Amino acid sequence: MSNASETYGEAAPEKPWLTAMVRGARGKCPRCGEGSLYSSYVKTAPQCAECGLDLSGHRADDAPPYITTFLVGHITIPLALASKQLFDPPLWMQFAVWLPIMAVSAWAILPASKGALIGLQWVNKMHGFAGPDADPAADA
Ligand SMILES: [Zn+2]
Repeated sequence: MSNASETYGEAAPEKPWLTAMVRGARGKCPRCGEGSLYSSYVKTAPQCAECGLDLSGHRADDAPPYITTFLVGHITIPLALASKQLFDPPLWMQFAVWLPIMAVSAWAILPASKGALIGLQWVNKMHGFAGPDADPAADA
């Protein structure tokens, strides 16, 4: 039986990216997994209340809404088209069913996609997670 250092060698990552992304997707701090990532719906807290990680340097920007739109569209549009083919419901019923499902799905997925992206940025030391020794020109 081998231990982790034999399996992964000296180049083993200090920060497991999947763990950080899952913690972020659950709305938790990517470093400790205990503190809340958000102070409200998708407003990032300035720092983790448990470990003190400075969360203000993330740059999720437009990626979380893009990911959310991509996922919601690729899940609901095929289902809507399949329901049209199978049941041929009237147009008003399609709107009454699928628009709320799309809205609720987007509302639920957006914080998870933003948190996962912040976790990935933290693992890769991107933007404000790079630390004080980072080259400021790298983010320009
Ligand atoms: Zn933390």
